[in-house]
Amino acid sequence: MSAQSGKAAGEPPAVAPSPGDAKIATDYLRIFGYLPEDVPLASDAGRAALRASQAMALLPTTGTVDEATRKVFEQPRCGFPDRQGTEEPGQPKSPGGVGEFVAYGTVWDHAVITYRINNLSPDFDGNRQRTLIRQAWARWAAVVPLVFEETTATPDVEIRFATGTHGDGSPFDGPGNILAHAFFPPPNGGALAGDAHFDEDERWQDGIRAGGFDLFTVAVHEFGHSLGLNHTFMPNSTMNPFYPTPSTPATDDRAGVRDIYRRHIWAASLYRDVLGRRFDNNGLDYWVRKLFSNTSTDQVARAFLYSLENSGRLATDLYFTLLDRAPEPAGLNHWRTQLAGGLGRQAAIVAFLDSAEYRGKYPANDAFIDSLYRRLLRRPPDAGGFQYWKSAMTGGTSRYEVARGFVLSDEYCRAYARSLYLRYLRREPERAGWDDWTGRLKAGLNHQDAETGFAASPEYQNAVVNWW
Ligand code: ZN
Ligand code: ZN
Repeated sequence: MSAQSGKAAGEPPAVAPSPGDAKIATDYLRIFGYLPEDVPLASDAGRAALRASQAMALLPTTGTVDEATRKVFEQPRCGFPDRQGTEEPGQPKSPGGVGEFVAYGTVWDHAVITYRINNLSPDFDGNRQRTLIRQAWARWAAVVPLVFEETTATPDVEIRFATGTHGDGSPFDGPGNILAHAFFPPPNGGALAGDAHFDEDERWQDGIRAGGFDLFTVAVHEFGHSLGLNHTFMPNSTMNPFYPTPSTPATDDRAGVRDIYRRHIWAASLYRDVLGRRFDNNGLDYWVRKLFSNTSTDQVARAFLYSLENSGRLATDLYFTLLDRAPEPAGLNHWRTQLAGGLGRQAAIVAFLDSAEYRGKYPANDAFIDSLYRRLLRRPPDAGGFQYWKSAMTGGTSRYEVARGFVLSDEYCRAYARSLYLRYLRREPERAGWDDWTGRLKAGLNHQDAETGFAASPEYQNAVVNWW
């Protein structure tokens, strides 16, 4: 490549665009972020900018204003810049793969996102427009754990229809070309952060057909920006700048939004994997805000594990698996409070096995020992082991001590550690990690603390992004 001309070997010689084309090209490249204000089109940087815009439109990157490129300048599209700031205009990477999305990096620091509809278009039924806007948000709520609520109070996202210059430094352009634009989440865009504007000089309609533009299609795309997504050159992606784009986020769009909302996904996954239920909106919003205000993942995971809700689940499970019955309210409340207050699940197990009720089920030592094998190790006793515990009890070892011996045994701890690998990491343990967790459990580590370790592990945090 010659530094003089900036064109690749074998390329036809650049033809200087007509003054009219040069003006249109320059305006386009400036508006959409390809060309800085102080750089002329007739320069290496100018031609590189033109090539980058051709790449975004999936055209041959000729660097000249040819017929196909001229058409792109008139194509209906989003007004959001394809490039921000001073980043180098570049070529697309390996088309066809996922991960081609460009995520700008800012996201909402909470999970319940409010929007206010400032005004609607006079072009068709207002209630229908309101419904389409709600459904456009729902397309994103289907792929990330975010909740969108319409409000009349001060919102996160303001939605409005406007024409020409409308006070945000990015004027609309009359009918055609720019249809709408939107702003990234805070801190980008200041007071405008998240807002979505639609060009009222367009004819808005319900559906993709000639004569106007489909509000739903454009809204799904713009809300992608409101959530923090940039444009992608990938065709058939919601975040491609050229109308019409798919109203269901494509692989690339989903990968992008899941990546930038990975903390939201992790918090929502704790509801699923720790508590066994879908998140509630306010609860998720609360924990996401915590995560964005210097509360560590370890602290959040611990709060889930020692919550009254999880403690109640653990206690209920012990009633069913050790006493073969549902808990009575007073008993459940007692154990739930103990566990939430820091009692280890393993200590609660020992207390259940040492209770009068359990003794009533197995008055004889032989039956008691046999029951521990079956309930804790899930197997019949082996002759040697059984004899060992029988002799110990004959020699005066208490039921409490025997139960404790089982719960802290290598076999029990190894099986419990494996259950955490399967539950959180969806895989079999690797030797070193398995040995490490087993050792810590045998030394008396609270089960809830071990679970916290898995729920807060980088492996789990990364994996859940792909499981949402
Ligand atoms: Zn856009
Ligand atoms: Zn605007």
